Amino acid sequence: DRQSSPQRRARRIGIMGGTFDPIHNGHLVAASEVAHRFSLDEVIFVPTGRPWQKLGDEEADPSRPVSPAEDRYLMTVIATASNPQFTVSRVDIERAGDTYTVDTLRDLRRLHPEAELYFITGADALESILSWQDWEELFELANFIGVSRPGYELHVKHLAHHLAQLPPDTLQMLEIPALAISSTECRARAARGRPVWYLVPDGVVQYIAKRKLYRAPRASSPGVS
Ligand code: ATP
Ligand code: MG
Repeated sequence: DRQSSPQRRARRIGIMGGTFDPIHNGHLVAASEVAHRFSLDEVIFVPTGRPWQKLGDEEADPSRPVSPAEDRYLMTVIATASNPQFTVSRVDIERAGDTYTVDTLRDLRRLHPEAELYFITGADALESILSWQDWEELFELANFIGVSRPGYELHVKHLAHHLAQLPPDTLQMLEIPALAISSTECRARAARGRPVWYLVPDGVVQYIAKRKLYRAPRASSPGVS
């Protein structure tokens, strides 16, 4: 069948968006598994610019701002460097203002006009993307792959009516190996001097130490230097 010969098939690109503060093995397993299952040619990791969802997130830690974009970008580069299918894009960190998935997809669509795009997202993030943004346009720009994540379940009930009108396969759910790792937990561990070895790639452990990221804010007791 000549039509399905490899040369004619559109390039398939996965897009893994995230704050990546820090990138951890849960992100990497998700990207690797989706790449395998959907025969992707490449997965582009896209660190967010200003993550509007996370500013003013009182529950997480009111005092802690998100780490500088360049640190999150470099950790993502370090974590993905050994995989020839993984690349990192600066589109979100170079765009002014808050990061919205629709802008990420528009930019990558422009850069890869011939490709089929697959936006990869954990169940938790998928729900907020679909409920906060103009998701009808999102589905025109890319296929969405929702991956399982321990502790989260996807509630798409309120979207079911609209989803029924979309072409099949626009949104697919994929069970992936469960890694109960979050960046929040990695930051908390680093702040308390607990190990993050094997939760994040070795190079990221070393980068966190080198740049002194996630150190607990100094107590405001006088005389401590
Ligand atoms: P934070 O705790 O700061 O929110 P995070 O661990 O959730 O960090 P993000 O950068 O917010 O990481 O997530 C980027 C994407 O990766 C999201 O789509 C998220 O759902 C997904 N993701 C993160 N961790 C996992 C995991 N352990 N398993 C599957 N998907 C994950
Ligand atoms: Mg998150």
